[in-house]
Amino acid sequence: MLSNTYIKINLKNLIQNFNFLKSKISKKTKFMAIVKASGYGSDATEIAKCLEKNKVDYLSVAYLREAIRLRKNGINSPILVLHPQLDDFKEIIEYNLEPNIYSFKVLNEFLNCRGQNFNYPIHVKFNTGLNRLGFLYSDVNDLTKIIISKKINVKYIFSHLAASEDKSETEFTNNQIKLFEKINEKIEENLNRKIDKHLLNTSGILNFPEQEYSMVRSGIGIYGYGNDLVFQKHLLPVVSLISTISQIHKIKKGESVGYNRGFIASGDTRIGIVPIGHADGISRILGNRKGKLLVNNIKCDIIGNVCMDMLMIDISNLDCNEGDEVIVFDENNQTAEDFSKYSNTISYEILTSVSNRIKRVYIS
Ligand SMILES: *Cc1c(COP(=O)(O)O)cnc(C)c1O
Repeated sequence: MLSNTYIKINLKNLIQNFNFLKSKISKKTKFMAIVKASGYGSDATEIAKCLEKNKVDYLSVAYLREAIRLRKNGINSPILVLHPQLDDFKEIIEYNLEPNIYSFKVLNEFLNCRGQNFNYPIHVKFNTGLNRLGFLYSDVNDLTKIIISKKINVKYIFSHLAASEDKSETEFTNNQIKLFEKINEKIEENLNRKIDKHLLNTSGILNFPEQEYSMVRSGIGIYGYGNDLVFQKHLLPVVSLISTISQIHKIKKGESVGYNRGFIASGDTRIGIVPIGHADGISRILGNRKGKLLVNNIKCDIIGNVCMDMLMIDISNLDCNEGDEVIVFDENNQTAEDFSKYSNTISYEILTSVSNRIKRVYIS
């Protein structure tokens, strides 16, 4: 056992999640794995390598730098860059990346860099209600005129659902789907050809599988979270965040712990020092008994203020020693989703907040 803070990345679970999600869609539908934000806080390259071995069709990241890093690490799959910036296009083409084209301005920059390379593939994004990136339905006629006159290779049309995990927003989601359909029909009519499409994220795959189109996009699901109790049984958390007790102190009534004396002992108290802090993604919000970590399977309160590089837990009622393992989150005892509840956030934020100074350990 490692006496240190480390992230355990269980690639067996990754493959199991990938296969489970694929079982929800038809065999001919492609699967895009989202590895943005360091693979949801894990390690984009290792996740991408593992999924490439298991024949993933596509990868996707948010920003150019993330995609370049994958290419430099030998990843050859098609990569969609979800949020290209105006001066990215030279490198997007140089590294053979597929851009999301979401506005006329971005389209122009792409065309300037593409030159005579008419075959260069793009994904065109439509805003159907999330009100984030994308063209509008009212842009379709102008857009298709440019696509025809500039001979643009639109490989996919896509959109993004705003509330696919929310059962109470089914009507809203159905309206997004209807609008996407209307956009698709108009484009295909104007261009006089069929175009491939993708729409669903993880919760979309689970809750609206009939909208799979030619490809689906999954992020949180491949890392083992389904935003849903029914599906959670089939998904296994990939990432565990484990630490240790570096030192134990016994303090007396009236003594304080940590910066600004955030904790004052009301009686004899035993505290453990844990080598992980707010610089590692443990929010300062979790101090003062808001967050809990597991030692020997017992929940221990974080006491005092979380420091940059360490935090303190109350181990008064616990038989434990220096060097014992401390679980921040793991596969089943306290998942990232359980841990997210302490600070009123979601598994996505917990996973992506983990700092990259923490050592990664792989299980395959
Ligand atoms: C991040 C992202 C996804 C992945 O969503 P999950 O809920 O993690 O599956 C899919 N599509 C787009 C456009 C995204 O930005």
